Amino acid sequence: MEDVDVVIVGAGSAGLSAAKTLRAAGLSFRLFEAMNRIGGRAWTSDQHFGAPFDIGCAWLHAADRNPYFAEAQAAGWTLHHHDMNVDHLYYRKHKASEAEEAEMKAADARLFQCSPRIR
Ligand SMILES: Cc1cc2nc3c(=O)[nH]c(=O)nc-3n(C[C@H](O)[C@H](O)[C@H](O)COP(=O)(O)OP(=O)(O)OC[C@H]3O[C@@H](n4cnc5c(N)ncnc54)[C@H](O)[C@@H]3O)c2cc1C
Repeated sequence: MEDVDVVIVGAGSAGLSAAKTLRAAGLSFRLFEAMNRIGGRAWTSDQHFGAPFDIGCAWLHAADRNPYFAEAQAAGWTLHHHDMNVDHLYYRKHKASEAEEAEMKAADARLFQCSPRIR
């Protein structure tokens, strides 16, 4: 194998970002990925539910400082701003009523109070 400046293990977000940074810096690299796809824990499947489903990450947190935000815009993706509240809640096939949604939010708030780890 030819010599390279850097070897990257894993083609998840971190590995792909490292590759991009190295390329911009003019350094050579080799990127190894154990699976038959790139993306790591960022993976949208179109095979499980008949519609695209984010099995791993789905949100661009902190869009004001998330580097992926500008990249997604530049790539022409439609980005939906969200206030972290639940938009669409379903119980099996029926959309939650306002009362059910309020009940879920109250339960979520109680859970938040109980768990020191998610405070
Ligand atoms: C269910 C779920 C929901 C999430 N939701 C969000 C979200 O909404 N927003 C958000 O910002 N983040 C979210 N995250 C977190 C986000 O997905 C991860 O922080 C991010 O994808 C991690 O990227 P990474 O490159 O560090 O690691 P990974 O994505 O884990 O990539 C590591 C890669 O290295 C490969 N690898 C490992 N060992 C080897 C080896 N020895 N040789 C070759 N390859 C190897 C793996 O196969 C993998 O492809 C979520 C995660 C999960 C699981």
